[in-house]
Amino acid sequence: MSEHAFIRDLREIVGRTNVLASAVDLQLYQYDGYLEEHRPEAVVFVESTEEVARVVQACNRHGKPFVPRGGGTNLTGGTVPFAGGVVIEMIRMNRVLEIDVPNLRARAQPGLFNLELGNALAPLGYQYIPDPASQKAATLGGNVAENAGGPHCFKYGVTSNHVLGLTVVLPDGRVETFGGKAADTPGLDLTGLFVGSEGTLGICTEVLVKIVRQAEGVKTLLAIYDSIEEGSETVSAIVAAGMVPATLEMMDQLVIHAVEASLHCGLPMDCATLLLIEVDGLKDDLESQAAAIGELCKAHGAREVRVAKDDAERALLWAGRRGAFGAVARLAPSFLVCDGTVPRTALPQVLKKVAEVAGKYDLRIPNVFHAGDGNLHPLILFDWRDADMKARVLKAGMEILTLCAELGGTISGEHGVGLEKLEAMRLVMTEADIQAQRRVKAAFDPANLSNPGKMFPAKEVACER
Ligand SMILES: Cc1cc2nc3c(=O)[nH]c(=O)nc-3n(C[C@H](O)[C@H](O)[C@H](O)COP(=O)(O)OP(=O)(O)OC[C@H]3O[C@@H](n4cnc5c(N)ncnc54)[C@H](O)[C@@H]3O)c2cc1C
Repeated sequence: MSEHAFIRDLREIVGRTNVLASAVDLQLYQYDGYLEEHRPEAVVFVESTEEVARVVQACNRHGKPFVPRGGGTNLTGGTVPFAGGVVIEMIRMNRVLEIDVPNLRARAQPGLFNLELGNALAPLGYQYIPDPASQKAATLGGNVAENAGGPHCFKYGVTSNHVLGLTVVLPDGRVETFGGKAADTPGLDLTGLFVGSEGTLGICTEVLVKIVRQAEGVKTLLAIYDSIEEGSETVSAIVAAGMVPATLEMMDQLVIHAVEASLHCGLPMDCATLLLIEVDGLKDDLESQAAAIGELCKAHGAREVRVAKDDAERALLWAGRRGAFGAVARLAPSFLVCDGTVPRTALPQVLKKVAEVAGKYDLRIPNVFHAGDGNLHPLILFDWRDADMKARVLKAGMEILTLCAELGGTISGEHGVGLEKLEAMRLVMTEADIQAQRRVKAAFDPANLSNPGKMFPAKEVACER
């Protein structure tokens, strides 16, 4: 069937204006936060599960690959249409469908921004825990596909710990429901399998999540250090002392300077690193929790510990942390966000080595990270117009991921594999592991149409079946 017939089919399903096919429009969907670009044949805006199913069925009839896209904030090339085909834009499926307070559940469409679910729950005194720093622009569907984390995931767990069920359009266009409101469902955990599958097993069109009551109170502390080692050693010390703050975030000096220059949060400019720590729980307990953590920070070298005096100061500190990636954009035309994880006791070691990698490749690498999870985000600054520099960035990124793997960590904390880390998968998985995952993909998607080219590195050795 001709190209034209395909576009006509798509327009019949969703309406003429909901299919983009001009060169200019398509150019806008050929990239995301990673460095690679590939142009789709069409972009389709969908508004219901039925429309998604019919679009996917049309892709099957025409043998065209498809890539679901939410906010496009992923940093690993997950939404780049590597093999062409159709980008299915989920952003108009953005309704909260149900808030079931007695059962502590909420159901929403996948194009809803993460923050919007929070905004719908807050007046009722409830919240949804996973809170990526991108929550204003990242969708629930993207969070599910990437198994997103966020500052509060240190204490409460990442997306996979909060999603109970999904409605999914499978790669052949059939609609299935996985999981449900009950605490457990018999059989294989297909919800668990889908979370983190990066759009390779189909498209989720409804998300059922756990919600929790908002904590009675919170206290936010800023611990200020003259040495990055002391800051990172404090992270392990807090956990080893049996304390579990709600968040434990860290920024180094370059990031602090960038944040201050753009957001004016009142951060000290002369320190080496900062820990942003939040404790939550019963109001009566907060003072003592904060005091104990403050003492521990001082015992491990903090030169000062500030406690946010009111909600406005707390909001300002969080604006700084959540705006850190954006602020760093002031420092260079581009940057690559690395996303590796190490056991938190290895943080001082890995930070030292990241500085060595920066020196080796003559690059600047500021760091901002979810320190409590041992999840680091070295931001490798560069100029995308400089091909030599870009090549050095890719080498430095791979070297940092190799370090994480060698230190007993892994190659992603929360941003997934996408196109960026295909080869890095081999650092943490054997060929047999990868082959087993390819077989799962093939069971769901024998025609390899759902976000092909992502997550699974090319075959190296044929494994025995
Ligand atoms: C400034 C900034 C800060 C960030 N901070 C964090 C952070 O703290 N924690 C964190 O985890 N991430 C963070 N990220 C990364 C990113 O925001 C997350 O990965 C987020 O979950 C992506 O959501 P999205 O809606 O933008 O998804 P997209 O980028 O649109 O898509 C991501 C992947 O999900 C797939 N997908 C999208 N929708 C669906 C669907 N409905 N069904 C199936 N697959 C789908 C896509 O095909 C793609 O593979 C940050 C990014 C930025 C730019």
